[in-house]
Amino acid sequence: MTASVVRVPDLDLESFAARAEKWLTESVPARWRESRGRLSNEESDELRRDWDRKLWQGGYSGLSIPAEYGGCALGLAEEVVFHVLAGKAQAPDGFTRVGKTLVAPMLIKSGTAEQKAKYLPPLMRGDEVWCQGFSEPEAGSDLANIQTRARRVEGGYLLSGRKTWTSFAQHADWCFVLAQTQPDAPRYRNLSMFLVGMHQPGITLSDIKQISGAVHFAETRFEDVFVADSDRVGEDGEGWKVAMRVLGDERGGVETASRYVEIRSDVDLLIRTVGDRPALTARLRELDVRAELLRWQLAKVVDREVGDPERLLRSASVLKVMWSELWQDVTRFGLEVSPAADRDHWQYQYLEARAASIYSGTNEIQRNILSERVLGLPR
Ligand SMILES: Cc1cc2nc3c(=O)[nH]c(=O)nc-3n(C[C@H](O)[C@H](O)[C@H](O)COP(=O)(O)OP(=O)(O)OC[C@H]3O[C@@H](n4cnc5c(N)ncnc54)[C@H](O)[C@@H]3O)c2cc1C
Repeated sequence: MTASVVRVPDLDLESFAARAEKWLTESVPARWRESRGRLSNEESDELRRDWDRKLWQGGYSGLSIPAEYGGCALGLAEEVVFHVLAGKAQAPDGFTRVGKTLVAPMLIKSGTAEQKAKYLPPLMRGDEVWCQGFSEPEAGSDLANIQTRARRVEGGYLLSGRKTWTSFAQHADWCFVLAQTQPDAPRYRNLSMFLVGMHQPGITLSDIKQISGAVHFAETRFEDVFVADSDRVGEDGEGWKVAMRVLGDERGGVETASRYVEIRSDVDLLIRTVGDRPALTARLRELDVRAELLRWQLAKVVDREVGDPERLLRSASVLKVMWSELWQDVTRFGLEVSPAADRDHWQYQYLEARAASIYSGTNEIQRNILSERVLGLPR
């Protein structure tokens, strides 16, 4: 079985894919492609920042974002196809991913005209990086239990609390933060969403080193940080509603598209490694078939479910469980059977894959969502 581009019977999409593939071939820096995984943090950060700007200059930034905010005004289908092609071309993962996949849709759905005009164009240009301030030491799956508080003051709020696992915090100019604003209101109606500048007094970061050795996130402390009223998204007390929409976007097709390419490439490496060793072929075939099923599921989402937000939301949970568990099984198998020459690759992938069933909502939570919303089982 060989990997191929997600196929949808749409001529425009095919011509878009051909154009994007050509641009990616010409634009991905050779330095990144050739030295993947062996660059210093500084070199890697620089190439990732440059990539955000190249996307903008090339006309591939914010593919599904309306043109008035600096996007390309295409659809989710183009976004997914582009991520598949970018993965195949071994393009860098820019720093604007959180901003483009979470903040932009959030502001488009729930932001004011001023917020969209202020925040979206610099994000599309690759000039400003965003991070997500949801999780806390005592609130992950149970997000409604967050303790970070925003206290009313003249013209806005003073924000205090501790967020953790904040991806990209070290590079971020802005953070979107969920905080309690109405301590006496009922659960789910006591929260608000804020857009918080990261370069101001009262914010401290502590790096968190991952099991793979990478440092992709931090603990973020806020101590009496001022946030203006104009930087609250939605009404005071509507933060939960805004956050739930964000989480739907987080688990969607774009993340799966990038992961699918990585998994497919690792399964192909395993096929070459295992050869015709009979004792291993049954396990290998199972992984190969699951990778193909993931591609079908992704293609189905692009083909039939774009434009149907409720179906898309359910599919997002299915996709998240499929790719994260497949990635873990593929990398575990790789570590068991790989020759010494490939050991570094598999060890890194294996450790990176551990976190996949935790972030964007754990797989247990995805299964809860599916059992309640798709199967209609009681809570
Ligand atoms: C690599 C990585 C990047 C991340 N980036 C960010 C980020 O940028 N911003 C951010 O805000 N957060 C981020 N997170 C945090 C992530 O969202 C949380 O780790 C996740 O929501 C789980 O929360 P927790 O770690 O507190 O685990 P807990 O919620 O304490 O869960 C512990 C275990 O209990 C299970 N469990 C909990 N509740 C239930 C239930 N109701 N039913 C069944 N099982 C349950 C969970 O599935 C899990 O196995 C990141 C996490 C990782 C690993």
